[in-house]
Amino acid sequence: SLVLGIETSCDETSAAVVADGTRVLSNVISSQMEVHRRFGGVVPEVASRRHVERITLIIEQALQEAQVELGDLDAIAVTQGPGLVGALLIGVAAGKALSFASGIPLVAVHHIAGHIYANHLVKPLEFPLVSLVVSGGHTELIYMEKHNHFERLGQTRDDAAGEAFDKVARLMNLPYPGGPQIDRLAVEGSISYDLPRAWLEPDSLDFSFSGLKSAVMQLMQKAKQRQEEIRPADLAASFQHAVIDVLVEKSIRAVKKTGVKHLLLAGGVSANSALRVQLSKRCEQEQIDLRIPPLELCTDNAAMIAAAGTFLFYEGKFADLTLNADPGLPLTYS
Ligand code: ATP
Ligand code: MG
Ligand code: FE
Repeated sequence: SLVLGIETSCDETSAAVVADGTRVLSNVISSQMEVHRRFGGVVPEVASRRHVERITLIIEQALQEAQVELGDLDAIAVTQGPGLVGALLIGVAAGKALSFASGIPLVAVHHIAGHIYANHLVKPLEFPLVSLVVSGGHTELIYMEKHNHFERLGQTRDDAAGEAFDKVARLMNLPYPGGPQIDRLAVEGSISYDLPRAWLEPDSLDFSFSGLKSAVMQLMQKAKQRQEEIRPADLAASFQHAVIDVLVEKSIRAVKKTGVKHLLLAGGVSANSALRVQLSKRCEQEQIDLRIPPLELCTDNAAMIAAAGTFLFYEGKFADLTLNADPGLPLTYS
């Protein structure tokens, strides 16, 4: 099968062509990072306008690079949500227009399902599995018994992991997006600041990162009052370690609780080098088969949307032209 993916949920305009849900024929990503950087975060109106300007060209480029004509496609997969409503609408409108003009069926993909299916582009998923989803807006443990089936085992009660990285980076005056900056800085630092970990109730698979963020803020304020220097690299390493500690431990618990053999890492924070190392080490000890997407498939891209959309197409789960963007879309379709 040949599926065109379209992704515009946040600040990446992306289109991709994927064959059989596994082979990436093209994956064109136009990032708006530079545009939003001067505001210290994504500005929704600016993002929508950019998507409008780029989407047609990006889709054309994706088809061209894949050497595929519109008529060769079996389905068009578009991100329906969650994300910024104005941004999502551009992709949804483009997908609907293409589908209407060509008669090619449309499928509506959940953005987080996309992040999970990024792993399918490396090696076909094996079920049952647990996926740790860590991104700018989500931190969740998802159980999948089969394709298109998602059951949430736990989620963050406040900030998402990526959000915590971005907020702490902002406190430290690092440019947006802060995750990669902290990752880079932490490499030169040592884990020497004592920061809290929110384990919550003993059997809980939920997360909480707002306390950690506050602890970093207090630590910085205290240092300022005492006119002491903060060691940025050490703070980055200590903060990052506190986040990863909990992510790794809870993922292993989720795997043991459900008795699965396969653990998947998904979402933008999967790009974090220390998380990749720590989780790999731990899974090796525990003899868990761990899948981690390559860096280019960790953050937002349309290839992952096409991959997830392929399995909706296989099961005949089509969307019609009444499809609307849903900024709060729950991951419940099955
Ligand atoms: P969601 O997927 O929840 O809708 P999003 O699409 O905005 O949110 P992603 O694109 O999946 O988020 O990921 C972006 C997030 O990943 C940002 O918070 C960014 O700081 C973080 N991130 C990216 N690279 C790294 C890294 N190397 N270390 C830590 N965090 C990272
Ligand atoms: Mg982004
Ligand atoms: Fe994302």
